[in-house]
Amino acid sequence: MTIFSKIMAGEIPCYKVAENDEFFAFLDINPVNWGHTLVVPRQETDYIFDLDPEHLGRMAKFSQRVAKAIRKAIPCRKVGVTVLGLEVPHAHIHLVPLQQEGDMNFSHKISDPDPKRMAELAEAIASNFE
Ligand code: 5GP
Repeated sequence: MTIFSKIMAGEIPCYKVAENDEFFAFLDINPVNWGHTLVVPRQETDYIFDLDPEHLGRMAKFSQRVAKAIRKAIPCRKVGVTVLGLEVPHAHIHLVPLQQEGDMNFSHKISDPDPKRMAELAEAIASNFE
């Protein structure tokens, strides 16, 4: 079971943003910027481009809904999209609110982010998810 599957199973706490029967979205625990969100399929697949094409398409649509919620909740120019997958072997899409290019620098993460602010951000994004 991957760490993300444990999060989805409720075995590890997270700041949940959205979910449906196939996908789950929650805040990255070491965000590159406030509101940094991960979208994960419930199905355990390491490499995102190994997903069935239809499944990947639905993941993109779900991510679009999450990105719209992020943009409503957090003032930003755009929501950036990245796929890395070098650390956790469970496919995921990073969504990061951007004011400038440097807001998506994976070499500079916010370590030990304030839990109250994280909870407030997750709630704000969740309440804008449609
Ligand atoms: P990647 O696999 O895309 O290179 O990086 C994995 C991402 O997942 C990192 O940005 C990391 O901060 C995040 N991450 C790793 N473990 C956890 C966790 O237990 N909870 C949350 N919310 N995020 C995690």
